[in-house]
Amino acid sequence: MFNEAQDLLTRQFGQLVTPEEAIRELERVGALIQNSHIVYVKGGHGDKYVDLAKVTGPYTASRICVPIAYHFRHYQIDLVVAPVQKAPKFAEWVAYYLTLATMPFTGKEVNNIWAEKLPGGGFGFRSSHEPLVRGAKVLVVEDTINSGGTSQDTVAASRRSGAEVVAVAGIWNRGGVTAEKLGVPKLYSLIDLQMDNYPAANCPLCAEGRPINTAVGHGLDFLKNQAEKIAQPVA
Ligand SMILES: [Zn+2]
Repeated sequence: MFNEAQDLLTRQFGQLVTPEEAIRELERVGALIQNSHIVYVKGGHGDKYVDLAKVTGPYTASRICVPIAYHFRHYQIDLVVAPVQKAPKFAEWVAYYLTLATMPFTGKEVNNIWAEKLPGGGFGFRSSHEPLVRGAKVLVVEDTINSGGTSQDTVAASRRSGAEVVAVAGIWNRGGVTAEKLGVPKLYSLIDLQMDNYPAANCPLCAEGRPINTAVGHGLDFLKNQAEKIAQPVA
């Protein structure tokens, strides 16, 4: 078993994807659209669209998680925690590769669980997971980090349940978020790239007449609202 784990690990860690390769991989599976004209959820416009929920295949998900596990292989992580609505799939692959890296020495698997939204606000764990969190060295894994709010909630839940949060890791840090902002010792992002987000009224893509992407994001609503505004006589 241990030899097999070491073989697998050498093979995976021997060919870590670079951020550029990860970006191409995300484009290939439709999780990233570039050079388009997207309307984001809060109404801003930009030329890129990222939705890591579109990474549905294990090949891509596992490949982009290997560099995270590699980065933290000496951190003695016991437990990987993900916010439930975002990243459990990635957390599982990170935990898997961390297990391959560390089980030969520790004899233990690295577990992965999720934090879920509590009815009163904030995040927490189901009671059956609480004993795993208590006293554990935790790595919080995210898909995209935007403002960092979900990461902070997940970190807070882990600490409240008695964990030592060693770091936060994300596939894509698109908000320029820092470890200081998250209040953790370390933040690692495979892709650390901010995305332009223009106010709709001042969007260079609108100015150049680039067609709005209606297939993803909120482009369709935006166009509908604009059409209504034009149809409405000015009082
Ligand atoms: Zn625009």
